[in-house]
Amino acid sequence: MSEKKSFETARETLKQLTLRKLAPTPVNYKAVYNEIAGIPALEHFPAQELRSIATSLQAKTPGQQRQKGLLESAIDRMNWDGVRAAFVAYAGFLPANTESAAALASPTGEASAALTPDFLAQMGRLIEYAQPALGVDDERFIAQSKQLITALKQPDIDITAVKLMLINYSHRLSFAAEDQAEIKGALLKLLHLVFENIGDLSLDEQWLKGQMDALKAASSPPLSLRRLDDVESLLKDAISKQKDAKQKASLAHTEMRQMLVAFIDRLAQISQSTGSFQAKMEESARLIENARSIDEIAPVLKDVVGATRTIAHETLATRDELQSMREQANSRQAEIAKLHQELDRISTQSRHDPLTGALNRRGLEEALEKEISTVRRKERPLSVGLLDIDNFKALNDALGHDMGDGALAHLAQVARECMRPQDTLARYGGEEFVILLPDTELENAIEAMTRLQRELTKRFFMAGTEKVLITFSAGVAQLNNEEPGMDAIRRADQAMYLAKRAGKNRVLGT
Ligand code: GH3
Ligand code: MG
Ligand code: MG
Repeated sequence: MSEKKSFETARETLKQLTLRKLAPTPVNYKAVYNEIAGIPALEHFPAQELRSIATSLQAKTPGQQRQKGLLESAIDRMNWDGVRAAFVAYAGFLPANTESAAALASPTGEASAALTPDFLAQMGRLIEYAQPALGVDDERFIAQSKQLITALKQPDIDITAVKLMLINYSHRLSFAAEDQAEIKGALLKLLHLVFENIGDLSLDEQWLKGQMDALKAASSPPLSLRRLDDVESLLKDAISKQKDAKQKASLAHTEMRQMLVAFIDRLAQISQSTGSFQAKMEESARLIENARSIDEIAPVLKDVVGATRTIAHETLATRDELQSMREQANSRQAEIAKLHQELDRISTQSRHDPLTGALNRRGLEEALEKEISTVRRKERPLSVGLLDIDNFKALNDALGHDMGDGALAHLAQVARECMRPQDTLARYGGEEFVILLPDTELENAIEAMTRLQRELTKRFFMAGTEKVLITFSAGVAQLNNEEPGMDAIRRADQAMYLAKRAGKNRVLGT
């Protein structure tokens, strides 16, 4: 926009603010200005999507590392120009300064010489690789990026046309990235709602509620494919357990109902036979009263004895039957109790700790195995950190066990937020946690654990209104060649023990 035009737009903006009776705040000014200048109103900078693209960029050469860093910092500052410049410079041909952006913006200048076919082809690849992260729903956007990729590959490239295409592309990109971030956010919200509802519906099923809490924690950002994997396996666990429980409970209910029907039937029979017995007795009493000789009483007595014998017999049979029904009911009851125990047992066999949402021992063993096979295949380092909260018993004693539980959940939450998405958090024991750090050498792993320590000094655990500082001692080990994962954890445990001995609240490597 020329200077004159921007001046006019500014003047028109002020006029419109007055006409629309809007307060002349920076936000109102910007909104009206953009509207007049035809600038799209980007309320949200798609930081999340861009960050995910940035994460997927390789940083093999120092140049790429630098550009990736600049890209991340531009995303942090929500600076579109910086993002664009860093993307362009990422390919390694231009330094990421304002000149690089300028070179692209005015390719007639000297810097246009740097726009070699190779560089442009790399730019095309960058657009191609970023495409899947931006969704497949916007056909026009996909067509636009294909067109741009083709144009970037042409040997006799028309720089002016490509520049125009790039401008249109980045305009649309901003919407696509924003859409993706919103879709992701909305889906997550929906997922949480489902988990919350299932959890609320099953208040009497503690094991299921625990699983739902763990699912909510596992599906909270920052997400990674690994965490989504976790959510999937947790959900499968919970669904299969619930199905199992429902089937068995419905079987037990049907049997109980059948027994109840039989029981009522028998009761009806008893009252019927006791009713006719009663009538017989009344009739006999009347006959005996009216009898004039012993001969007349004899047949009546015979009838009474017969009826009494029958009722005695029936009562005995009914008692036996009821006895057997009671035994059956007791055994059904015992089966249902066993089923509940079984569910609790299966629940503890799941991979997550319901209190903290971290992996449990079983989950840790599986994750460790997976991690080790990946890092060995890629010949990358793997470090493990083991932390134990300092003086946790005293915290429990002072604040109560429930607050102690809250402190454990707090630590797990801070750890999740402060470690990288690819790191894995597991509850190793009561107040001990293990963190797996793939692609991390010992030194960096020590730094990461120290960073978590520092974070905990900033984010207190709130016990009601009281701020509680949680500290921990940790040991860190880097997995040796051929070393079993649990051995590395044991070494980290020994280092943690030394950290305790050395005065607690510290991290030691081994
Ligand atoms: P140190 O600094 O040497 O580690 O001392 P500490 O008090 O943390 O260690 P100790 O092993 O003596 O005590 C650990 C305490 O953790 C004892 C136990 O009651 C408590 N604990 C273990 N699991 C849980 C839990 O799930 N919830 C709560 N609230 N407390 C737990
Ligand atoms: Mg301990
Ligand atoms: Mg402890």
